[in-house]
Order: sequence, then structure tokens, then C-alpha cells
Amino acid sequence: MMIVMRHDATPDEVQRVLQRVQALGFTPHLSHGEERVVIGVIGEARRADPGAFVHLPGVARVVPISRPYKLSSREFHPDDSVVEVGGVRFGGGEDIVIIAGPCSVESRSQMLEIAHAVKEAGAHMLRGGAFKPRTSPYSFQGLGEEGLRYLAEAREATGLPVVTEVMAVDQLDLVAEYADMFQIGARNMQNFALLKAVGKRRKPVLLKRGMSATLSEFLLAAEYILAGGNQQVVLCERGIRTFEPSTRNTTDINAIPVLKASTHLPVLIDPSHSTGHWAYVTPIARAGIAAGADGVIVEVHPRPEEALSDGAQSLKPERFAQLVREIKAIAAVVRQAAVSAMPGGNHGSAPGV
Ligand code: PEP
Ligand code: MN
Repeated sequence: MMIVMRHDATPDEVQRVLQRVQALGFTPHLSHGEERVVIGVIGEARRADPGAFVHLPGVARVVPISRPYKLSSREFHPDDSVVEVGGVRFGGGEDIVIIAGPCSVESRSQMLEIAHAVKEAGAHMLRGGAFKPRTSPYSFQGLGEEGLRYLAEAREATGLPVVTEVMAVDQLDLVAEYADMFQIGARNMQNFALLKAVGKRRKPVLLKRGMSATLSEFLLAAEYILAGGNQQVVLCERGIRTFEPSTRNTTDINAIPVLKASTHLPVLIDPSHSTGHWAYVTPIARAGIAAGADGVIVEVHPRPEEALSDGAQSLKPERFAQLVREIKAIAAVVRQAAVSAMPGGNHGSAPGV
């Protein structure tokens, strides 16, 4: 449940409610909204009795949270969260964030070449996998720490903060030394030990949707990280498995507005893994931004035919530069449309997950 404080509640009154929540064996989670303070009551929901809180001074109302996830829900935190990574800001109506780079870090020169190219094209952050989750154990598994070093060198050379995948708890210390943001990939979205471990860190996390995960399961995965105390989570829709074989995955465009209605966390679209084919990447990036995504993560490679992973879906730098121009234009239109529609006011509350 969620305890909504009155506008004029004093800090002492808030403190008393926090103490009461703790005394009853729950964990309070304080959230300062623009207008008022909201206190989440975290613990076994069945045991929480609203009567224990409604009469306390300063309490406006007690609202049961109907969703299985709490800290990630918009009910609990109505304002958009902004996640900051090395000066780049995700969410909260800020400009869209563009992350780009190769699927895998392959060599020092490859990484530096791509980093300069994507920066020039307008990317704000750099991606590249050093630990690669591959379907086959015989496929390229990534350069490991050597790859992390090249990523860090590319950051020094370009100023672009770096996101890279961490696949296991025992890689966390190493990846944390080099990366500005952890990526948890689709295959690990429900690796609960990993989610709990990044929850204890204070480094932002890019959490990708599992390929067969419902949006509720996706948000519950984010909940693990938030419940651990790490509030810096960015979600990423990367396509789901369906019966349709003509693309690698099926982009769930619906997920973008549904997530934006259900959660305060920033939401990205990954048009590369969503489609699996370079020719579809730009149209789907456009669609994601038009649907309200806070940014994109795109695979770029100067010689896709030589890529050690995901060459088929990698854009050459010139095509990526064109994608950037197009999605920036679309983002400006989306923002303008939202502003011009504002006087109409209430569009009703979206149902969410
Ligand atoms: C990736 O970003 O290269 C990747 C492996 O993505 P996903 O986990 O979405 O498949
Ligand atoms: Mn990839």
C-alpha cells in the first residue's frame, strides 16, 4: 500500500509515519513528489492494514497498490524519474538519448573507430559487449576485460559514457570498474541473483526485456533492483518472440506507451535486436520514438559483414547518422504535439499493466 501525505504535512509527521511503518515490520520507501510526499509500505501486502495509518497526523489517504510491482509503478511515483549517466539524462521529458556502438567489442581499433563515428553522428552514449550471451558456446564469447579496457579508452577519446552487459554476479566488480552503466540483457532479465546484486550497487542499470517476458514480469524484474535501493533503472524494449519468422523478434510497440503509463522509469527502444535486419532498424526506431520512447540503443558497425556478432542488424555509420536526424525530427514533433494538445487537459488515466 501507499500512504499519501497531505500537502502541508510537516517533516515530523512524515517521520512519525515512517516510524510506525517500521514498527509494524514493514520497510518504508519515501518518495518526494512535486506536490507531496508518498510513503510506500513494502512487505507482505496481506499483513498491511490501512487502519494502522489513516489516523496519523499529516496522512491524506492510504491507497492499496493494485499492481504486483510497487516501487516501479506510477501510482507510487507519479512523476517521471530521470536517470543520469555521466551527464546524460534519460526520461522526464528531456531530449531523447541515443546510445550506439557495436554488438561486440572486437578490437581496440574497431572500438575507437566506431566511437568516433557514432559521436560525430550525434550519439550520447557508447555501447559494446565485452561479455556476450551467445546461443552457441562455439560463437564468439566476447573479449572480457580486454574489451572493457577498449571501451574505457573509447570513452576517454570521445567523452561518451559507456554501457556494457554484465552476465553474472561474479563479473560485477570488474564491469563496474570500467562501465558507467550496467546492461542486463534479455536472457538475464530474470536472473534474480544478478538483479539483487545490481540493486545493491549505485550504478545505473539498463534492463532489457526478456524475450518472452510479459510487461508485468519486466516491471517485477526492475522492482528487484529498486527494492535493493538502486533507483537508477532504465527499461528497454528489444522485441519479443512470436510466431512470425520474417524478423528476428517482433517489436512490441505497444510496450512503449503501456510502460510509460505504468511506470515512472525511462523507456528505450532497441530497434536492432527487435528486427534483426539493418533495413528495418530505422523505421522501427522512428516508430519507437513516435510511440513515446525516451531514447534508442542501436548497433553500428563500419563493416557489418566482418562483425563477430549481429552484423545483419548493424547499421553503417552513414545510415546511423541518417537515423539520428530522423528520430530527432520525430521527437521534436512528438513534443510539440504533446504541448499543443495540453489545453484539452484530461485524457483519462491509462490502464497500464
Ligand atoms: C545486446 O545488446 O547485444 C544483446 C545481447 O541484447 P539482448 O539482451 O536484448 O538480446
Ligand atoms: Mn547484439
